[in-house]
Amino acid sequence: MAAFVSVSALTLAVSTSAGIGRLPPGATAAGAAPASLSRSSAHGPCMITGGAEVQMSEGVPTSHGYSRSTGTVRALNLMVDFSDAPGEGTALDRYAEFFPQTRNWFRTSSYGRLDYRPEAPVRDWLRMPKPFAEYGIERGAPFDPAYRELVEDIVTTADPEVDFSDYDLLNILVTPNAGPSALDTVLSVTFAGNHEAPVADGVPVANASFVYSRQDDGSGSYGRTGYRVLPHENGHVFGLPDLYTQEGGGAAGHWDIMSEDWGANNDLVGWHKWKLGWLDANQVHCASTPGTKEYDLTPLARPGGPKLVFLPLDARSGYAVELRTREGNDEAVCRPGVLIYKVDADVDTGMGPVKVYDSRRDSGGCTRSPNVHAELSDAAFTPGETFEDPRNGVTITVASADLKGDHAIRVTRH
Ligand SMILES: [Zn+2]
Repeated sequence: MAAFVSVSALTLAVSTSAGIGRLPPGATAAGAAPASLSRSSAHGPCMITGGAEVQMSEGVPTSHGYSRSTGTVRALNLMVDFSDAPGEGTALDRYAEFFPQTRNWFRTSSYGRLDYRPEAPVRDWLRMPKPFAEYGIERGAPFDPAYRELVEDIVTTADPEVDFSDYDLLNILVTPNAGPSALDTVLSVTFAGNHEAPVADGVPVANASFVYSRQDDGSGSYGRTGYRVLPHENGHVFGLPDLYTQEGGGAAGHWDIMSEDWGANNDLVGWHKWKLGWLDANQVHCASTPGTKEYDLTPLARPGGPKLVFLPLDARSGYAVELRTREGNDEAVCRPGVLIYKVDADVDTGMGPVKVYDSRRDSGGCTRSPNVHAELSDAAFTPGETFEDPRNGVTITVASADLKGDHAIRVTRH
């Protein structure tokens, strides 16, 4: 970690890899400025923030320096290869592993608010000047000097054909034969909010995702789900932390792509959608006052209607409540219902900033999908079930569900 201390505005996040060993990511703080969060004065108590030492936080609004997450976002894609790992197939084949799927994923998850425009102005492999082995790229390794050198070489090689200032973020799609199999080591990584990055066409290459290998576990789902490492990595570019921990998906399960990006498709939690500016102020209820109140929830994957109730516990944390069903990006939901999780802005990326409460602990879960954390797959609460936190005087009951599938919850705060 000491290697990061001298670098000021930079966040490093390592890709998730279900069932495979993980490293706690290292990072330093980005600056401070708001994203496009929709809120009113009533949301004040729910605007949780983490301490300055938190490198990549769940706090709202998101720190300055990350890429915009609403409106038109232009993504530059460069496919790179090396003399010791020459591109397999065409560069556009590699591109087609991720597009249009990634663009569609963001359109669906954001209810159309993120218009993600991928471009590949260089149609062929960009051959790096040195062999892959010489760069010394390792999992989650400090990018300095290895990544700095690689990024500089990418910029130099692509610059005659690319105006970097035209783009909001950069995806480096490395030929899959460079480096180890993703089953052994996931090298995919993102540098977000990095303003000490090499400068290209007058702008720092501040938000860049690198995708290596193929997240293919042999279950035959790669063609359908292998692209999902990219929306995960781009999630970091937009300021989202990793939800998986050294124990894997045990904290947030398959309820967010920042937790698990292998296997069946999954969406983001409602908290992340609010943080990214994809929910209006009137879709998010801040339940901060004492008493009992009822709230309606519509399925998170469906556009329109109330999506999120947040109960702040203090200035840094609170409970989030949302309705998850099997639709949209949530294809692995095997027990629809009300998901309750704790968000702690003071817990750093990779350390479990989101913790899902399991309504059926030690049940083994309801899924048999590969690469889906099974135990938490049946975590959602169904009508008649109650979540209680006596210490904080909080009770959340799922009161009812109607024919459309909307749910009502009753929240009591003492
Ligand atoms: Zn990650």
